[in-house]
Amino acid sequence: MTDFLAQDIKFLPGVGPKRAELLKKELNIETFGDLLYYFPFKYIDRTKFYKISEIHAQMPHIQVKGKITSMELVGSGPRQRLVAQFRDDTGSMELIWFQGIKWQKENLKLNATCTIFGKPSDFGGKINVVHPEIESEGDISLSPSGIFQAFYNTTENLKKGFIQSRMIHKMILNLVERMKGKIPETLPQSLISQIKLMSREEALMNIHKPVSTHDLKNARFRLKFEELFLIQLKILGLKHHREDKFKGYPFTRVGYNFNTFYHKHLPFPLTEAQKRVIREIRKDMGRDIQMNRLLQGDVGSGKTLVALMTALIAFDNGFQACLMAPTEILAQQHFATISRMVGGMSVSTGLLTGSTKAAERAVIHEKLLSGEMLFLIGTHALIEDTVNFNRLGLVIIDEQHRFGVAQRARLWQKNDTIPPHVLVMTATPIPRTLAMTVYGDLDVSVIDELPPGRKPIQTMHFFDNKRREVYRFMKSQLQQGRQIYMVYPLITESEKSDLKNLEEGFRHISEEFTEFQVGMVHGRMKPGEKDAGMQQFKEGKTRIMVATTVIEVGVDVPNATVMVIESAERFGLSQLHQLRGRVGRGADQSYCILMSSYKITNESRKRLGTMVRTNDGFEIAEVDMKLRGPGDIEGTQQSGIGFDLKIANLSKDAPILEMARNVAKDILDKDPQLATAEYQILRKSLNTGKATEFDWAVIS
Ligand code: ADP
Ligand code: MG
Repeated sequence: MTDFLAQDIKFLPGVGPKRAELLKKELNIETFGDLLYYFPFKYIDRTKFYKISEIHAQMPHIQVKGKITSMELVGSGPRQRLVAQFRDDTGSMELIWFQGIKWQKENLKLNATCTIFGKPSDFGGKINVVHPEIESEGDISLSPSGIFQAFYNTTENLKKGFIQSRMIHKMILNLVERMKGKIPETLPQSLISQIKLMSREEALMNIHKPVSTHDLKNARFRLKFEELFLIQLKILGLKHHREDKFKGYPFTRVGYNFNTFYHKHLPFPLTEAQKRVIREIRKDMGRDIQMNRLLQGDVGSGKTLVALMTALIAFDNGFQACLMAPTEILAQQHFATISRMVGGMSVSTGLLTGSTKAAERAVIHEKLLSGEMLFLIGTHALIEDTVNFNRLGLVIIDEQHRFGVAQRARLWQKNDTIPPHVLVMTATPIPRTLAMTVYGDLDVSVIDELPPGRKPIQTMHFFDNKRREVYRFMKSQLQQGRQIYMVYPLITESEKSDLKNLEEGFRHISEEFTEFQVGMVHGRMKPGEKDAGMQQFKEGKTRIMVATTVIEVGVDVPNATVMVIESAERFGLSQLHQLRGRVGRGADQSYCILMSSYKITNESRKRLGTMVRTNDGFEIAEVDMKLRGPGDIEGTQQSGIGFDLKIANLSKDAPILEMARNVAKDILDKDPQLATAEYQILRKSLNTGKATEFDWAVIS
């Protein structure tokens, strides 16, 4: 039997080579299987009819029975449209076409009863439906086969080629007719009965052609579970494989360095969360398996200290460590903080960045190779092939803009035989479900507690017309000796208008606050100028820092208590949260002021509202994922997983994901190689299906 699902889509009756080409180009659909796995994005109950008098623009798709009583062409040129009056016994509304006008005009029947179907909108106070679907009475060819009609996303090009949602549905129904008995299972029977899943064939049928709400629910569950489960099985399988293949140096000792620091140099007591996390890390590094751990903690939760104490354990076991930061300024700050904290202990620490001079660099290279230097802190410069260690035992990555899997892998390869332990620290928390997927091959530690004595930052949102009030408030803070950040959007460094805004802002602020020094930094300055600007602010010489998001990962200035963000509606949530984290670092009450124009989108309103409501980075990350969808969350693109979920949703399907991960774990614990007869089917499923195609080669 030829593989039904692998058949070329052009052989499906009603498709043909031309449409096949279009489907491939626009939706990446090449085979019967691809088409079957192109799922509807919504369903409409076709048993429900509305009266025209009941309709308003906020309704989703609706169905109305009535008659077209007249039609006329309105406008000319590209803006020409066909407008038809549609009536029932309660009133009338307009049906509008911008495309295919000629065809519609010839085919619309006046004064014949028909059903129209579409999304109502409000145009100048009048309700209309643009490009409705129309069914004449008695025309059964287009009627849905169940009570629900499935809707599919299309593209402009598809629509031009007459492949609308309805056409896709027709093709799929055609396929569903033919597929009986031809859809092989992807999951073992034992699993299907254990968690009472619908069979794959039934699920694929019901997802496109549901006969009841109950069956649709089961079909969705089955397909979501399958999708998430196969991803988890793959990720966890690779983790098993890696742990099997890569041994690790067991750091069994906690000795002089750690103890001396802990008893004599610790500047403040550790929080309970820091203690717990250090214990987790210690235990993990104590095994003879390479540690691959993600450390999550909100801004200001004290990750640097954890990083340092982890490194001290490495030194105690005779190994070197390195810490990689995303920017030069942050690397310098880490270097300064850490050097200060270990001052008086004999821990030789070096700083290596893009601007390290050649002579200095040579010295560092030599000291690393001889083993004299224990701790190297730096930027991407650490990855370079010229940097070689004597005994690298630990790599810590402070991930602001997350390094991808591939970059992580390059650091592991610094050792020939046994790779160093790896600790990845994220500066902005990511939702649990996303961590389980994107970072699913890592173990996770969470610092869920801020150091004591911090006053929560107060966040307020003002429209631009309240600017004077904001300035008055800023003045009072300045008079109390505090410092202020003012951030302007600069989405890309090449956006000239943004730079102009920033420069105007700078001039304006300088004029407004004449008695205070105002500084400015932005991404187009030379690194030296930028650092000098930051340094002046840090030393309190400038009191207001007008800046772009370059300060997002800036230096620690505890005296800065106000963060004003201009055009806050243009920033993403995680970025706003990150910026806010620049203040609230000292003992004084800090404030974050979000300025926006009055006209902002609903989504912006939600973002700003979330910022005002909560300081909790984890909660913010969840909202961010809901608003933007997981694919757009920072880091997923660079993660090395080109994942695109077809049906599961990481913000809504957390329970299914959790279950899928647990089931995958159980199976791998029992049979890590998937060697038993029962699991042969899983090996096969992992090797096919686009949904689970990752490029994991970089790891193993
Ligand atoms: P982040 O997690 O954002 O990297 P940092 O490591 O920069 O946070 O820590 C933020 C601030 O909190 C620093 O000034 C640091 O010295 C301080 N800090 C860290 N741990 C503690 C603690 N246990 N008690 C008090 N202050 C702490
Ligand atoms: Mg940090």
